[in-house]
Amino acid sequence: MRLVKPFFGGNWKMNHGPRAARRFVEEFTALFPPSQDRTVVFFPPAVSLAEFRTAAAGREDLLVGLQDVYWEPSGAFTGSISAPLAKDAGATFVIAGHSERRHVFGDSDEDVVRKVAAISAAGLTPVLCVGELLEERDRGEVESVVTRQVEIGLSQLQAEEAERIVVAYEPVWAIGTGRTASAEDANEVHELIRGMLVERVGSAAARAIPIIYGGSVKTSNIEELLAAPEIDGVLVGGASLSPKDFAQICRTVWR
Ligand code: PEP
Repeated sequence: MRLVKPFFGGNWKMNHGPRAARRFVEEFTALFPPSQDRTVVFFPPAVSLAEFRTAAAGREDLLVGLQDVYWEPSGAFTGSISAPLAKDAGATFVIAGHSERRHVFGDSDEDVVRKVAAISAAGLTPVLCVGELLEERDRGEVESVVTRQVEIGLSQLQAEEAERIVVAYEPVWAIGTGRTASAEDANEVHELIRGMLVERVGSAAARAIPIIYGGSVKTSNIEELLAAPEIDGVLVGGASLSPKDFAQICRTVWR
């Protein structure tokens, strides 16, 4: 299935329990009419997924995903959720390698690749997050860091699986900090990622893969970001917690 661009992801992180999720959906759906010309995906906490889906019943345009999974399909892994369980709960996407998983919880590149493979094997779409730390940017290592993360992230996927992913470029220094990469800087990294995807799956398939930007996306910078030719959408943290702000972001006119 090819995803309709632009792609808007709302990563709620560890916010909005079931009751808040219901209130959010009620407000958001009043502000954002059903839309077939874009992809909108929410990543609520796992405990809020069922309530989100119940509240959003009839809104097939609003998709849901999980923020993380463990790579084993089932078993004695207390506290973890697997990709098949996420699918059973109605998720169609799962984030892998978010910078908070990498840098707060210590997920390594090897962990991320196992997760990407497990998500894809379960028939879900992985949202592979990549991005450099500030010190890596300052040392001029953006290209090498992002190249390594994308290469490793996709290394266990068959070609047809690699066509069904989303790549999120999220410079770590821009996440939750209020600092946004300029559209120009982000576009440059997106071009690099696009080139890698072209080599991996060919030009037509690579063009269809959403490469999205994340890092302090707000109502005030969304238009400039989406005007950049290689930015196919956004992954939004803080601003996705407000139904009003996120509805405005999701309504942005696509170039
Ligand atoms: C994120 O969580 O992926 C993110 C980009 O967060 P924020 O928009 O708050 O920077």
